Amino acid sequence: AFGSSHFSTSPQPSSSDHNKRVPNLIGGRFLDSKSSNFIDVLNPATQEVVSQVPLTTDEEFKAAVSAAKKAFPSWRNTPVTTRQRVMLKLQELIRRDMDKLALNITTEQGKTLKDAQGDVFRGLEVVEHACGMGTLQMGEYVSNVSHGVDTYSVREPIGVCAGICPFNFPAMIPLWMFPVAVTCGNTFVLKPSEKDPGASMMLAELALEAGLPEGVLNVVHGTHDVVNAICDDDDIKAISFVGSNVAGMHIYSRAAAKGKRVQSNMGAKNHAIVMPDANVDATVNALVAAGFGAAGQRCMALSTVVFVGGSQAWATKIIERAKALKVNAGTEPDADLGPVISKQAKERVHRLVQSGVESGARLLLDGRNIVVPGYESGNFVGPTILSNITADMECYKEEIFGPVLLFMEADSLEDAISIINKNKYGNGASIFTTSGVAARKFQTEIEAGQVGINVPIPVPLPFFSFTGNKASFAGDLNFYGKAGVNFYTQIKTITQQWKDSVGGSKINMAMPTS
Ligand code: NAD
Repeated sequence: AFGSSHFSTSPQPSSSDHNKRVPNLIGGRFLDSKSSNFIDVLNPATQEVVSQVPLTTDEEFKAAVSAAKKAFPSWRNTPVTTRQRVMLKLQELIRRDMDKLALNITTEQGKTLKDAQGDVFRGLEVVEHACGMGTLQMGEYVSNVSHGVDTYSVREPIGVCAGICPFNFPAMIPLWMFPVAVTCGNTFVLKPSEKDPGASMMLAELALEAGLPEGVLNVVHGTHDVVNAICDDDDIKAISFVGSNVAGMHIYSRAAAKGKRVQSNMGAKNHAIVMPDANVDATVNALVAAGFGAAGQRCMALSTVVFVGGSQAWATKIIERAKALKVNAGTEPDADLGPVISKQAKERVHRLVQSGVESGARLLLDGRNIVVPGYESGNFVGPTILSNITADMECYKEEIFGPVLLFMEADSLEDAISIINKNKYGNGASIFTTSGVAARKFQTEIEAGQVGINVPIPVPLPFFSFTGNKASFAGDLNFYGKAGVNFYTQIKTITQQWKDSVGGSKINMAMPTS
């Protein structure tokens, strides 16, 4: 094992640089990369180097794929009950190490410890769901489609699958991928985010401890080159991607050109409609939590609020509660939101806020100059609110991915829905109202994959699927739930004939009919 204790849980750099190097996992062994190129993984609250992640060499990548290919025949023939039991054990081990995982996430990604626990927990639920794979993977059967003939279909694993992860949910998103894939009988090559690979490594170590045979799960690191190698490799049959649109559409088309199936979850601009009849306290709290929680770096963060019937009264209350939020390092017990992931991310947030101001938005709350005592070099942005937003502003068209809430106004529910439907993204949208009629109209007409009715972040539990629409998703089989199982399996349809006198003396040259 690579010894998770030194590099994954301590915010302090260790004395030896070599010890901080994140290994690949190839064929059941944690191996140091022979690469001469490493990227520093920085603690976003302090800029300390937590670890160093290699740009995996082509040779190492090929070794990982070939380990996965070699492990496939015996793993796919391992009874589904045995595969489920590995997941039963894995969920127990994730619970055991929940605090360690959360501390690693906070150290590398920046979110608060409590939020990091949620990151692990929402992934853990996918592992729990995979424990019922026998039922999820069931085929279909129609008896007597013709005389003595039955047809049935089975869902078979497809082979080596790969997963490419974003930085914002270092545990949940890898857990959307490999537990479902391997419990279906596939083998896997995981490429964690180069910004926070620690949780993936700890999860991979737990998967081995849970009894996953060598080669079933492999981990390689890097950026564009290894991602392109994944897209091009003929032995990889399917790719799960979560991240930005630029990367996602590139991967979708490059991998599809090689005949692979791809599920690609991408960017978002999630809107909330606030109706004048909405419950005031609950709505204000929901908007503040969903806009600024995780420093706005959730793909389901509510980043734009459309007020129907005026925003003034709402704005005053939201500003008041946003001001009361504590911005601090995620390890500090009083932190409500931590830093954004990098200096570049912080600069980008600043630039988009400034562009909003320059194009006529009103800055109701400015979090750009915040200094956090003790963490002066952290990438902190405080809660920021811009009003008078119009659809042509850059800050509205772009995903900001920081703790910035945009306010718009609409004269009616129809107008509000039409604003949202014109946006290119369609990840999530919520309405806050006490009117069932308004809620039902919203649910029916809104073009978004995940719809919340008085629920700010409606991320579905694993018996459903994560269902982005429009530019937020490419592919046709979504992550986890039934669709996730369908993504990681292909259907074989068998027609069998068993009757006493098969055939006879006549040859039938026509297309068989019953
Ligand atoms: P990112 O696209 O920069 O990186 C994601 C992965 O792709 C990383 O592993 C990275 O190494 C790789 N990558 C990046 N650019 C690439 C390129 N040009 N070619 C090949 N590979 C490339 O995304 P991020 O900044 O890590 O994550 C934030 C984004 O992810 C946001 O847009 C957010 O909305 C989105 N996201 C979406 C969901 C969802 O379910 N829809 C969930 C989480 C995050």
